[in-house]
Amino acid sequence: MTMSPATKGNLRSIAPMGMDTPSIAPRKAIHSREDLAIAGATPAFVDPVHVGRPNIGDRAAFLSRVNDLLDSRWLTNNGPLVQELEQKLARYLGVRHVVAMCNGTIALEIAIRALGLKGEVILPSYTFIATAQALQWQEITPVFADVDPATHNIDPAMVEKMITPRTTGIIGVHLWGRAAPVDELAEIARRRHLSLMFDSAHAFGATYRGRRVGAFGRAEVFSFHATKFFNCFEGGAVTTNEDDLATTMRYMRNFGFETYDKAVHVGTNGKMPEICAAMGLTNLESLDAVVEANRANHRLYAEALAGIDGIHLLDYDPTESSNWQYVVIEVDRTFRASRDEIVAALHAEGILARKYFWPGCHNMQPFRELYPHAGLLLPNTMVVADRVIVLPTGTTLPPETVGVIADVLRVLSGA
Ligand SMILES: *Cc1c(COP(=O)(O)O)cnc(C)c1O
Repeated sequence: MTMSPATKGNLRSIAPMGMDTPSIAPRKAIHSREDLAIAGATPAFVDPVHVGRPNIGDRAAFLSRVNDLLDSRWLTNNGPLVQELEQKLARYLGVRHVVAMCNGTIALEIAIRALGLKGEVILPSYTFIATAQALQWQEITPVFADVDPATHNIDPAMVEKMITPRTTGIIGVHLWGRAAPVDELAEIARRRHLSLMFDSAHAFGATYRGRRVGAFGRAEVFSFHATKFFNCFEGGAVTTNEDDLATTMRYMRNFGFETYDKAVHVGTNGKMPEICAAMGLTNLESLDAVVEANRANHRLYAEALAGIDGIHLLDYDPTESSNWQYVVIEVDRTFRASRDEIVAALHAEGILARKYFWPGCHNMQPFRELYPHAGLLLPNTMVVADRVIVLPTGTTLPPETVGVIADVLRVLSGA
């Protein structure tokens, strides 16, 4: 690989992954209300701290792949890097087929269509809106089932209640990377003759009963968006153990083409470009470092928030593997400040905490207008959506952020 001086300069500045966490001293100490930015004090951070700041692997390895792919002039259309990524992902996830796509939403749309879903499909409202949009986009009715308030995942008993003669499938979502109740959903799907698939956008690398997410249901869908645990800039994939389904999805992502001149299926353009696969192959080499950084951050949060009454940090099952990508707290009704007041106070400090997935898909357009009564059957979804705050983590999190967040919460709690 030949390097321009500019490239060399970039390479020199790269520390090993997971060890380059910037240390940014907050600009003040927070002891009382007057110290808060919402009370007029200086914000703790000048540069905002984001939720979902991308994790980027070894820059030299990425740039070397980019140089090779530019030399080859094979930029897209099922190139060698996409094929290599699919093979490596299949091995990592323990599944027969990985069909890489341009993003997770198109991957959802293609999986839904390849499974032949129509009529009504049951899914949680408490998810990123893409899960529901992928159905609505092809005029399939998303039927929202309530969640278990303890796990935030879809409640199988509620799924059962939402089944009608028009129901063709269930989409489970492994929310926050904690596996949905896979076995219970599979049992319902089998007994009621429904297709089961999963939106696994949060759950790359996570396990359910010791098996990696990716081989459950008829198909699982991943997102490799920049903000996800494992990213390809933009990207996604459908995984399946069904050979025919994988073949159909390969046609569908490439305009329905089987060979150069022969289209055999309805299709769209869902192809992943080579540069995205180059990013994916690079990031795949540093997954362990990202997990380690996330886990360490989670531990810091657990220690810092331990003494604050009315704030609960969502935990990951110690008997399963997790990517620890989401730091989720719940605010009790009894807490002195509301969830929204806490979020406003953190934003004022430069900490851009998020209210995922408020207010629930059913409260956003087009669903709000199409299904105005959906919320009547979603009481737990509303409770959870009103309590949750997602906090920043990842390889770039300045560790001082955790202490500032704890101080803000302690002051707001009145303790
Ligand atoms: C990110 C995400 C998607 C969408 O994936 P994109 O790659 O951004 O299109 C779908 N579902 C869930 C749960 C997500 O978090």
